[in-house]
Formats: sequence, structure tokens, C-alpha cells
Amino acid sequence: MTEVFTGSFTQQEPIPEEGIAAALAVLRHGRLHRYNTAPGEVAETALLEEEFAALTGAKYCLAVASGGYAMGCALRALDLQAGEAVLTNAFTLAPVPGAIAAAGGRAIFIEVTEDLVIDFADLEAKARSTGARFLMLSHMRGHLCDMTALMALCDALGVTVIEDCAHTMGAAWNGVASGRHGAIACYSMQTYKHINAGEGGFLISDDPALMARAVLLSGSYMLYAKHRAAPPPEAFEGVRMVMPNVSGRMDNLRAAILRPQLKVLGERVARWDALYRRLEAGLTATPGVALVPRPAAESFVGSSFQFRLPDWSPARTALFLQRCVARGVELKWFGAAEPVAFTSRYDHWHYAEPQSLPQTDRILAGLIDLRLPLTFTPQDCEIIARIIRAEALSVGQGPEPEGVWAPAIQ
Ligand SMILES: *Cc1c(COP(=O)(O)O)cnc(C)c1O
Repeated sequence: MTEVFTGSFTQQEPIPEEGIAAALAVLRHGRLHRYNTAPGEVAETALLEEEFAALTGAKYCLAVASGGYAMGCALRALDLQAGEAVLTNAFTLAPVPGAIAAAGGRAIFIEVTEDLVIDFADLEAKARSTGARFLMLSHMRGHLCDMTALMALCDALGVTVIEDCAHTMGAAWNGVASGRHGAIACYSMQTYKHINAGEGGFLISDDPALMARAVLLSGSYMLYAKHRAAPPPEAFEGVRMVMPNVSGRMDNLRAAILRPQLKVLGERVARWDALYRRLEAGLTATPGVALVPRPAAESFVGSSFQFRLPDWSPARTALFLQRCVARGVELKWFGAAEPVAFTSRYDHWHYAEPQSLPQTDRILAGLIDLRLPLTFTPQDCEIIARIIRAEALSVGQGPEPEGVWAPAIQ
């Protein structure tokens, strides 16, 4: 009998009971706006920021409406000029070039390596040729580059690093939390990330002037003193009437849902690690399948899994995906001609200038991706690995198929 997987790749865990109770309390008192507090009350949003700052060791934290908003806000706070170049990973998610475009920047894409991190040689060449002041470094799918080397390179080039930590909340490089290397870091609390409020974002930084500008941009009006993880009022003096209000605040309802999740982030990371390692073990030494090495200095969050099918034809890859989907294993493919659901590629983003990245094209052509929601068990990961392995062997070693289309996965 053919084994079939019946779990859902999009089912997250419920909100912890403590979060549900806190959310109900906010709904009952009705003070959902972060600056709407009773005398003596500290808003859930201000507490959430304080707790995330403590968790990461950052001096300042600002909670906002989404990860994409956080990235645009960071660029504006850094005084990005209209039409200015922003270096960024070619392998990333659409909100990254979207945020650059929204802030008025011009995305310059950098090649990806086979280890799914930014290519340092291409980064250096394009930083020099464009004179860019900013790198929006996307830790796409949780793969951290050598952060020590990256920061040394960017410091030498005079490039300010903004970290996109949408997939690295809870990760670290050499024991330093992801998001603590660059000048400012952005996180997402969208449902498929590591803590779930449906939508939401964080900015963290140690730079008081930068964070004062970000707080004002987020729509603080003259109420910034109600923050607890923001710089002191002096930092706002010169800019409080200069920075435009680009409303994108977090509200107390979502903050109430998130606070208990921060407490269990460490435990979640450990469970993700177990799922990831089980799947990795099940796929090790599968002919035709290349796994992505994880450096010893990297402590990552295994909320998704990637593997490569190097040099497979599009038709063979599409057949493999079809066979896996038929057995309940929903795989996403970065090599598909058309963007599908969440999955798209740099050449699909027509709001950025057309650019040629042959190395990225070759790597993404064979790149397969799957989610590992925490509702999966390690046994689920064994089943998934067996199915992928069996189909990779059967399709990979079978005859060249013709006229096969990739299935559409959410
Ligand atoms: C999800 C995500 C973001 C931010 O997304 P929002 O939906 O705006 O919170 C940014 N970068 C990457 C790589 C992402 O996956």
C-alpha cells in the first residue's frame, strides 16, 4: 500500500490559553488603541515591546502592524532617499522588495549561494558599483550567513545593515541573537512565523536617534512617552515635528495574544529543531537530493525545510511535486515559471528593475521548500521524509517526463 500523509501544512497551534484570556480582557475593557490607557495602566503593546527588547537584549523595541511595515519604517527612519539603491537578497519573500519600493528605494538584488545565503562576492561588487548605503539582509527561510564576516564586510564598505528576521526570531549566530548584528532588525508576527498574531511586526535597535524616528513614523503623535522600550523624550526633541506620521501601530489585542507566546518561544524552537532534524535524517543520502548544510555557529529555527534537486529538468521536478502532493506532501517550488500563492521569485517582482542573476536562477530552479508547523509530530516528519525520498528516487531515476505542470500549493 502506498503511504499517504494526512496532516495539514498550514495548521498552526492554537493561541495559548493565557493569550486568549488576555485578549478577552482587552475586548472587555475596550481600550484596544495602544495609547488609550486608564490612569496608571500600562498598555499591553508597551509591555510586549519591553519584553521583546529584554528577550533579544536590544535597548529599544517598537511593535508595528506587520513585518513589511517594519522594514519600510526602518528604511525611512534611516533617511532613505527617493530612488536610492538598497541592496537585498534575490532569494527572499515579496514583502522585502515591496517594502523597499514602498519606502521609495530601488532594490538591487544579490545572488544566493547553494547554502541559501547571500553571496559575499556579489554583495561586495554591487555595493561598490552602486555606492549603496544600505543592505536589507533577509535571513530567508532561516538561513544565516556568516554574520561576523558579513558585518566586517559591510563595515568596510560603509554599508548599514537592516536585518529581516521574519524567519529567525529565536535564532542566533555564535550565540548572538539574530537581529543584534545590524543597525536595526525587523520581525514578523504573521501567522506562519514563530509567534502568531495574524499580522504584526517588531523593530529593534540600540540607536536612540534611529528608534525615535521609527516611533514617530509608526504614528505615535506626541504620545511617545507612553512607550517603555523607546528612547527618552530628549531623543525626540529635534524630530518630533519633522517625521511624518505613517500610521502602522500595533494594537493591544494583538499584543495581548503575543505576550504569552514570547514566554514559550524557546520551547517552540526546541520542538522545531526536533522536527527539522527528523526530516533531515530521513532525507540524508538520497540520490538526486541535496540537503542544505547548517553551520555549527548557526542556531536556527526549523520552521521550514529546504532541499535542492540540482540539475533536474522542470518537467521532472514538476512530476516529482505532483507525485508528492498526491501523497499529501505539499511542496513549494521556487523554480516555477509563474508565482504561486506565497511563492515567487525576484524576476516576478516587476516593481523592481529587471536584473540578471544567473547563479540565483540556477539554484532556485531546483529549490524545494516545505513548512513544518508545530502541529506536526516527529513521526509525521518520518512519514514525509519517506514519501519525498521514495518519489525522488522513482521520478529522479525514471524516464524524462513530458508535458507535466507543477501543482499549485498554498
Ligand atoms: C513574512 C515575511 C516578511 C514580512 O511579512 P509580513 O507579512 O509583512 O509580516 C518579511 N520577510 C520575509 C522573508 C518573510 O517571510
